[in-house]
Amino acid sequence: MKPVHYIASIALAVSLLAGSAVAEDNGIPVDRSKYANREMLPDFTATPCPNDPRTLTQVKGNLYRLTTGGHTGLVLITREGAILVDPARTCTAAWFRDEIKNKFQVPVKYVIYTHVHADHISGSQVFQQDGALVVAHKNALEPIVGEKLAMAVPDRIFDKDMKITLGGETVLLHYVAPSHSNSMIMILYPGYKALQCTDVCGNHSMPFNDFPDFYYDGYVETLDWVLDQDVDIVDPGHGPLATKADEKLARDYVVDLHDQVLDLLRKGQSWDELYRNVQFSDEVKKWSLYNERRILNIMGMYRWVSNHRRGEW
Ligand SMILES: [Zn+2]
Repeated sequence: MKPVHYIASIALAVSLLAGSAVAEDNGIPVDRSKYANREMLPDFTATPCPNDPRTLTQVKGNLYRLTTGGHTGLVLITREGAILVDPARTCTAAWFRDEIKNKFQVPVKYVIYTHVHADHISGSQVFQQDGALVVAHKNALEPIVGEKLAMAVPDRIFDKDMKITLGGETVLLHYVAPSHSNSMIMILYPGYKALQCTDVCGNHSMPFNDFPDFYYDGYVETLDWVLDQDVDIVDPGHGPLATKADEKLARDYVVDLHDQVLDLLRKGQSWDELYRNVQFSDEVKKWSLYNERRILNIMGMYRWVSNHRRGEW
């Protein structure tokens, strides 16, 4: 090997090593000192829950998944630290922190919020106090401060896209549109063909209650985006892992419900008539919580469609 090539090879090897060993992200830093003395409401997930089940299980390679209190989030373990999504509850956060430390000998370096609903982001403050950087969409900041939530104010925010590189692994964050809240983001794990798509995605399950914090157009746009991704593992934030085929069903369900409600409203039906006339497919009738959420789903869609009718004022 000629000396010049030899030196170039060494330089390349050194830069590769250096690159993979450094935590990097292109988020916008938040000056958290501005919020140091903010008012906070009591944390409804803080009461100790020593007997409640919580799990950290392998999905594929270095990709794991946490479950606690009916909530789920992906956890990527790298040699430099872990990247954890939605700790969900303060009462189990320290358990996850210690479990990751004991099993993999690494700290949690990043905590990502899928969206600012307190039942998903609780416990984040435990990791932030331990040195983790908390990441969220830019629309997450206002409700955390405004609603006086006891969870961590983010250290990094972003608008459309953000990339985190840690220990040779990459995580891509993407904001599609307002969908379920206006701070909902999609989290892609390209090395694993996996996606975190909390609450908008489902797995043969009825969407939550009456579509709280809902934006129909962006919800469908988000599910269409999901169907365009090269992924075969989807974590919907609750229940079992799903696939893109399951998300096609979730998309078709919400579009069909919207179209039926709009059609019945245009026929002049009152709520009392309308809710009896919405039809559900045999497939949807088998979904979890069908009986509990069927009428609530119609009601949420009725509210959305009524608020967005055109041509009648
Ligand atoms: Zn939610």
